[in-house]
Amino acid sequence: MSMIDSHTHLYVEQFDEDRAIVLQRAIDQGISDFLIPAIDSSYMKRMKELKAMAPEHIHLMMGLHPTHVKENYIEELSWVAAELAKGGYCGVGEIGIDLFWDKSYLKQQREAFAQQIQWSIDYQLPIAIHCREAFDEVFAVLDDFNCSQISGIFHCFTGTKADAMKAIERNLLLGIGGVVTFKNGKIDQFLAELPIEKLVLETDAPYLAPAPHRGKRNESAFLTLVAEKVASLYQLPTMQVAEITSANLRRVFSL
Ligand SMILES: [Zn+2]
Repeated sequence: MSMIDSHTHLYVEQFDEDRAIVLQRAIDQGISDFLIPAIDSSYMKRMKELKAMAPEHIHLMMGLHPTHVKENYIEELSWVAAELAKGGYCGVGEIGIDLFWDKSYLKQQREAFAQQIQWSIDYQLPIAIHCREAFDEVFAVLDDFNCSQISGIFHCFTGTKADAMKAIERNLLLGIGGVVTFKNGKIDQFLAELPIEKLVLETDAPYLAPAPHRGKRNESAFLTLVAEKVASLYQLPTMQVAEITSANLRRVFSL
């Protein structure tokens, strides 16, 4: 079985004690590729070190995370621009809008999101969208673009079925992670009504660990638990879900 973790932050501090072991544990579970979204420039060195650990498995993205859009966001965006110009990134992410933690930079978050979407179009790269309590705002920014030019993932999808349809209509895949295993996660109630060709699997490690590890540190090896849950919802063998979702991702991201 070969699976892809479409969203994992293996470079963060939570893995400093055992990063190589965590990576190997995931590879041993059949996870062959790891898509690594950026946060901000302070993590650059860590991302490069992770890439050097397993260059054939690790695929870096570049972007400014919406919760890190602060007073220095112009500088951060010029860092993103410079890195994208250098090349070597598989996507632009994670980018988007987050109104859960802080609403005071909404205007700047919108601007940063739109700018980074434009760069994804310029460089013909897919995007990884982070959206928290901001579906209307995210769709409003997306709709300023021609959606046939946009591709990518609505990462950690936690919206309603109507939100899911809106994302699919805008040419985006839905990133399904640990939330699908949560008792109150809600997306398990309608997920199987969506075409499985629109789903990709992710962990968002170290966050959002799937049941029965909920609340603990998440890691990419737990992707199998997400795959099993999705398989049970679609009443398909886990192997088939792994194959389909990996193919979905490879259609959009050139790994
Ligand atoms: Zn993330």
